Amino acid sequence: MKTYDLIVIGAGPGGYVAAIRAAQNGLAVAVCEADAVGGTCLNRGCIPTKALLHSARAYQELQNASFIGILADNVRFDLAKIHARKDAVVSQLQNGIEQLLKANKIDLIRARAAILGQGRVRAGDETLGCKSILIASGSKPALPHIPGIEFALTSDSLLAEARLYPRLVIIGGGVIGMEFASLYSAFGCEVAVIEAMDRILPTMDREISQNLGMILKKRGVRIFAGARVEAIEKEKDGFACRFTAKGNAQEISADAVLCAVGRRANTENLFAKGFSVACEHGHIQVDDAFRTNVEGVYAIGDVIGKIQLAHAASAQGIYIADALAEKPRSVNLDVIPACIYTDPEIASVGLTVDEAKMRGMDVKTGKFLLTATGKALIEECERSFIKTVFDAQSEKLIGVQMMCPRATDLIGEAATAVANGLTTGQLISVVRPHPTFCESFTEAVEAADGRAIHAAPPRR
Ligand code: NAD
Repeated sequence: MKTYDLIVIGAGPGGYVAAIRAAQNGLAVAVCEADAVGGTCLNRGCIPTKALLHSARAYQELQNASFIGILADNVRFDLAKIHARKDAVVSQLQNGIEQLLKANKIDLIRARAAILGQGRVRAGDETLGCKSILIASGSKPALPHIPGIEFALTSDSLLAEARLYPRLVIIGGGVIGMEFASLYSAFGCEVAVIEAMDRILPTMDREISQNLGMILKKRGVRIFAGARVEAIEKEKDGFACRFTAKGNAQEISADAVLCAVGRRANTENLFAKGFSVACEHGHIQVDDAFRTNVEGVYAIGDVIGKIQLAHAASAQGIYIADALAEKPRSVNLDVIPACIYTDPEIASVGLTVDEAKMRGMDVKTGKFLLTATGKALIEECERSFIKTVFDAQSEKLIGVQMMCPRATDLIGEAATAVANGLTTGQLISVVRPHPTFCESFTEAVEAADGRAIHAAPPRR
């Protein structure tokens, strides 16, 4: 029986990153993956959606670029080319991961793995031995119990098809729902979003939800919040989605219905008969060090159901790989930024004002509107802002929320600041370049003391 120090189940951003770091740390590692490497993020999530969004943005920019005197009345796009480009990006990245695994002398076992017991894994027909097992098997779209839900598509199926539905109803106004709403509306499709809570992106800063709602409504997206879907029915040409919003029964016809109401853990056939680890609501239960209730068996990423983000899974993978090799802890898992690739982009890290207040913290806050800055005017931005939240006593930055172009990159600086407890003074002392979006971060920090240069002074 071939044996390893570590067998990783799943080659997504949690699993393959853990495997590489473990190999760098001198461990003998195997990764079992039945599907393409890269997991949901690369094959059915972050990368393909962002590749499509990039194309959508290029198309939208061409349509809106009247200032360069576009000559054709009707700018058109070739959907087959857009999908081929997305597939090429995915395939190049899959190759990259495979090469990295090879270069790090990691055995990639292309088979479905099942855990037989402590230190024993069956991969296809082979039984493997190991000191530790890391479950990084990810998640799948969840489907609510709604009559007719079998007619709905998921983000998996929508991304796999090289087609656009002219009329799309999206159930769920969370991250996936709003990214698809942004994408589909950019391609000129009719979109309606049906969200159960009182606002879209209910876990985000309230002003971000409101601003996105306003921007999308201007683009023709219909948003129904506080709504309950009653049924999806097949019609002659398409589907009807019946729902109740604010007590009124409504119905929308569409060519497709996308269900985006969250994701559930992927634990199907993961355990051989007679063996299991403790689960809660379908997710694998772990402690703060990602240990399951069975010694030597760990779990990270979407399958544990805490923060379902690729970069969180990768960071957890690094944590485990370092811990198994008895190396000092190298990642701070307490500060995980979140990004939403709508147009404009949204990103946040740390606490919002409401969350800080709910914890009884005394805070001071800053807000800077980018809309009148040189960079925003040049790039024709919609209403954009950066908000900062500081602990009033220590003056340390504890949270940042952004809705502006490049927010998903800019949040990196904010994450460094929050993770290292940087203060107003330390953040202001840094000179940021002009004209950029990042210089507005300086202003959002200064705004917390009423001293932003490019904003009217606060009323006294
Ligand atoms: P989500 O939890 O972000 O949003 C689901 C939304 O559906 C919520 O707003 C919820 O109130 C609503 N909802 C639930 N049941 C409903 C019902 N019956 N009718 C109407 N609305 C209903 O989940 P998601 O958008 O499916 O995304 C899944 C996971 O993937 C999330 O953890 C998300 O963070 C992650 N993800 C991240 C990114 C990114 O980082 N950019 C992109 C896509 C997905």
